Amino acid sequence: MSMNGQGRPTRPEAAPASDAATLTGNAGLVIEEALIFELDSPGAVGVDLPPVPATAQHLGGVKPRRSIGLPQLSEPTVVRHYTRLSQKNMAIDSAFYPLGSCTMKHNPRLNEKMARLPGFADVHPLQPVSTAQGSLDLVAELARWLNTLTGMPAVALSPGAGAHGEMCGMMAIRAAIEHREGKDSRRRRVLVPESAHGTNPATAAAIGFTVDPIPADATGRVDVAALEAKLGDDVAAIMLTNPNTCGLFERDIVHIAEMVHAAGGFFYCDGANFNAIVGRVRPADLGVDAMHINLHKTFSTPHGGGGPGAGPVVLSEALAPFAPRPFVVRDASGVRIVEHEGEAGSTGLSFGRMKAFHGQMGMFVRALTYMLSHGADGLWQVASDSVLNANYVLASLKDVMSAPFEGPCMHEALFDDRFLKGTGVSTLDFAKAMIDEGYHPMTMYFPLVVHGAMLIEPTETESKATLDGFVDTMRRLAQKAKAGEADWFAAAPRHTPRRRLDETLAARRPVLRWRPPETRAQAAE
Ligand SMILES: *Cc1c(COP(=O)(O)O)cnc(C)c1O
Repeated sequence: MSMNGQGRPTRPEAAPASDAATLTGNAGLVIEEALIFELDSPGAVGVDLPPVPATAQHLGGVKPRRSIGLPQLSEPTVVRHYTRLSQKNMAIDSAFYPLGSCTMKHNPRLNEKMARLPGFADVHPLQPVSTAQGSLDLVAELARWLNTLTGMPAVALSPGAGAHGEMCGMMAIRAAIEHREGKDSRRRRVLVPESAHGTNPATAAAIGFTVDPIPADATGRVDVAALEAKLGDDVAAIMLTNPNTCGLFERDIVHIAEMVHAAGGFFYCDGANFNAIVGRVRPADLGVDAMHINLHKTFSTPHGGGGPGAGPVVLSEALAPFAPRPFVVRDASGVRIVEHEGEAGSTGLSFGRMKAFHGQMGMFVRALTYMLSHGADGLWQVASDSVLNANYVLASLKDVMSAPFEGPCMHEALFDDRFLKGTGVSTLDFAKAMIDEGYHPMTMYFPLVVHGAMLIEPTETESKATLDGFVDTMRRLAQKAKAGEADWFAAAPRHTPRRRLDETLAARRPVLRWRPPETRAQAAE
């Protein structure tokens, strides 16, 4: 394999059969892509700009010492480079994407159309409030839907992701605790089930809580007796996901909430799995004090590279006074933004700001479009169908794969690696073989409480035909593994631009920055 100066393979590994090798390293119309810095062609330009007129120095004595080294390229080279990179992305728009816990549902095109209306798309966070009444009204309406669906009185809309929302909710809890008197104000312990998403303990630890894990019981749910034993007057909160990350409904949730409240703590619910219960269960009725809702999961806004996230947090009566600013209030005179303490509507207790402005407007438009196009009954149907689809996958695969827990699941089907025992095939090998078949692998090795976990979340937007195709492929792969074809799995993936990379090295010693070959050579001297 040829390597570039960064140690990056510049050509695919030699194709196994010589008639598959090409002169260029390109495979059909899948073209090899160098880094944009390697494509640098000094002197090439995309746009002709007139020479910059001599201007006065505005930076005092500060002068650039050398060029910042941006690559120089013609416009077609740039366009082709980024277009080809975009085509190497797996996306919900190109194929089935059954990533458990992530709710990779279709992003309806109507959402996109609404978000592109100039009145919404061009709104600026600093424009006078009187000129943005329509946009602010939309924000207030989204808040009303979130409050109604969850039964919670308040919502903070500014957090930019689920994890950011967790931080917001936990900061409200911290502020509420610190507002108490004496020893009660020094509660710092947060209980987190072992099956929790990694962001839960990370959030609690990041803002100064200590994390105390609670084990799962044999049914994959929180061990209530173990939880009870951990309660005490230093417990600030429990962070619980429901349905949990094993895809199971926590049957004792109301009892758990009562126990935590009786012990003086708050109940933070990780609402990333709200898709399974939206329209059917109101978190307020379960005793929740704070819950983030990823608009990019339940409410169909694009994930990650497809757009910025949004993780609004709904808050109970007890936490509402501590909500971050700014927030929107709707009254007789119109819609206002409460930016500062002392303004009408402020409580004097807000813990501060989560980010500079009000949140991701484009995501708010998409999420409200989704809500309005489904209506309350349609959202109820969303939850029902997402659970039905997951159970269809579970029931269709559990005779050839192995499910760690008895009974039906909620919105995602969990398997472990017992069915691979003695085959020499690991969960990772199995996932790599799925890539060759055109499927983005499910979530692997999470939740941690299950050995070799495979967590499949089809969501309600997939058709029976898509699920049948997926089930058929999974069944055939499981049979192939059991038939002793470990070598075949070990060689997968065969059809990707790169095959197996050294994932450990990539994680431990990531090369995140390109350096020109000469500085590398100098550094070596
Ligand atoms: C996705 C997810 C999160 C984090 O949300 P981000 O938007 O990715 O930050 C937290 N908890 C659970 C259970 C999730 O599935």
